[in-house]
Amino acid sequence: MSLTVASSAGFCFGVNRAVKMVHNLLDRGKKVYTLGPIIHNPQTLAELAARGVVIAETAEGVPPDATLVIRSHGVGRPVYGKIRSLGLECCDATCPFVAKIHAIVSRAAEEGKTVLIAGDAAHPEVCGIMGYCGKNHFVFKDADELKKLLAEHRLFKNEPVCVVAQTTFSVAEWENCLEIVKKVYTNAVIFDTICNATAMRQSEAEDLSRHCDAMIVIGGKQSSNTAKLFEVCKKNCVTYLVETVDELPLQALKKAGRIGITAGASTPASIIKEVLVTMSEINEGAAQDTKDPKENAAAQNNTKENTTEGNFAEMLEESLKSLNTDEKVHGVVVGVTPTEVLVDVGRKQAGYVPASELSSDPNVKPEDVVKVGDEMDLLIMRTNDQEGTIMLSKKRLDAAKGWEKIAAAADDQTVLDGVVSEVVKGGVIAVTEGVRVFIPASQATASRSDPLDALLKKQVKFRIIEVNRGRKRAVGSIRSVLKDEKKAQEEKFWETAEVNKVYTGVVKSLTSYGAFVDLGGIDGMIHISELSWTRIKHPSEVVNVGDTVTVYIKALDRERGRVSLGYKKPEDNPWVILKDQYPVGSVLDVKVVGLTSFGAFAQVIPGIDGLIHISQIADHRIDKPQDVLKIGDVVKVKITDIDFDRHRVSLSIRALLEEQAEESENSENN
Ligand code: SF4
Repeated sequence: MSLTVASSAGFCFGVNRAVKMVHNLLDRGKKVYTLGPIIHNPQTLAELAARGVVIAETAEGVPPDATLVIRSHGVGRPVYGKIRSLGLECCDATCPFVAKIHAIVSRAAEEGKTVLIAGDAAHPEVCGIMGYCGKNHFVFKDADELKKLLAEHRLFKNEPVCVVAQTTFSVAEWENCLEIVKKVYTNAVIFDTICNATAMRQSEAEDLSRHCDAMIVIGGKQSSNTAKLFEVCKKNCVTYLVETVDELPLQALKKAGRIGITAGASTPASIIKEVLVTMSEINEGAAQDTKDPKENAAAQNNTKENTTEGNFAEMLEESLKSLNTDEKVHGVVVGVTPTEVLVDVGRKQAGYVPASELSSDPNVKPEDVVKVGDEMDLLIMRTNDQEGTIMLSKKRLDAAKGWEKIAAAADDQTVLDGVVSEVVKGGVIAVTEGVRVFIPASQATASRSDPLDALLKKQVKFRIIEVNRGRKRAVGSIRSVLKDEKKAQEEKFWETAEVNKVYTGVVKSLTSYGAFVDLGGIDGMIHISELSWTRIKHPSEVVNVGDTVTVYIKALDRERGRVSLGYKKPEDNPWVILKDQYPVGSVLDVKVVGLTSFGAFAQVIPGIDGLIHISQIADHRIDKPQDVLKIGDVVKVKITDIDFDRHRVSLSIRALLEEQAEESENSENN
């Protein structure tokens, strides 16, 4: 007996990706619900259920604290709307191949085309596709149904038509359908959307089954692509569809000389391996491969033979790798998910840019930087012909271009713009032109005391002070730019500064003798005596750090670079107020603020005290002011004299008393 395993057997890219996403969410402690079974394989589903994964039939059945995973089949647009309206956290595992079909039919519907879908109308993938088609769409499962459809809808033959296929549609049946479509429509736009993984799997199964006595197809009974494989193989030889090793018809298989094994897209490698081990055991002692090389040449084009378990594992691993780096492609964004951007690069393969390959800034979210329809240049990182995928990178292409600019900027000391993406040990990382530039703490801020955290996510300007292209290392300095900016501001200030010019500034610091104000690149000082017309003990009685103040230049010392500022306003000068509002002869209430042997001082207005001489306190002789007055008394006085030059104000209580006495004498006489 010989055993031959199809090299395309097992998890396809899309299923693998979806299952991985679920495991990742579980590893992060999330409560996971999937919208329908994530995979058509009962064993994998049981394994996930054991980890707590719940299958929800609709979004409404998902609790608000759970993460809902959309499986690789995808869902229609209305379902996304429902998920959003329920406010559910969602992880979209729609396979890029399927997302590409969504984009195609969506565009066709916008253009008013009728969409024809080759597939099973009840399959979730097709249901999802229909959710992007608008009203005019029809599904047919084979050539016969298509013929019937065209017969029933005669008029629709003249309409513009777009034809797509379910990703797992039978390749042979697709060919049949296309023949019909092409005969009827001259203007049909046809998209062969059968997934490469499916096409290759079917073609290998076809080849292999032609050269075998029996085929084992491993996969879930609900899996559409497994069912197709079974259909393909059973035309050529006796074929057994098994879900697990327990279902192997061992007695029947023992009689077969050549046995081929293939598996559906949702069959885990562990089950394939179990089947292989069991088959190897029953074949004990016999050579596993007795093929005639000529006879099997065709089969060998697409299959690899199993000789040991190790080889099988290697074979699966091998099939996943195909490096194709450094090639540039241009693509159009057809889908954006939180973890990747799906790009149509004009090839049969589905292009995708993992979120980590989109930008050098790890904080960037795909939805923030790209949208469906955007065009971009990308670098191919890896192609996987078996899966039909191309992994692309934007960040590497940006970085390649970026390094050219960085090197040039280092040479001519150009100032670069960037965004600080991370605060790291010893400095920050700024991203410019897709290149990560390290800026040491000593070069990151104007002063060492400024916190680095304040720079996070900020736009900064810097120069490259060191570059090593070989090691892809660039070091920058923000401080160098800040220094230049400060110098330029200083020069500009001195060019235009003049006494009495008014500025708006921000109080930077306070000392016991004044306040320092940032005038925009240069600091000036308001002396404490300039802060207020009244006597103050500390500048903080008038201003505080961070206050925006209007000041004027009182004096400039260009040689020493010093600027003296004025703050208090002339119109607030109490002597001006006194002159305007309290002429000699005014009568007013004043408060006694001090007592001496020769008189009492009283506050006339804030900032001006007047003297009530001892002779003016009463209308009779007193020994000392304290005999009549005490501090805090409020008394009525008359302003009898103002000496503006010497800043002296004379007050009199006596004058008022005498006037009163005179008045009462006059009234008595009358
Ligand atoms: S079969 Fe193809 S389309 Fe379907 S999930 Fe797998 S890779 Fe995607």
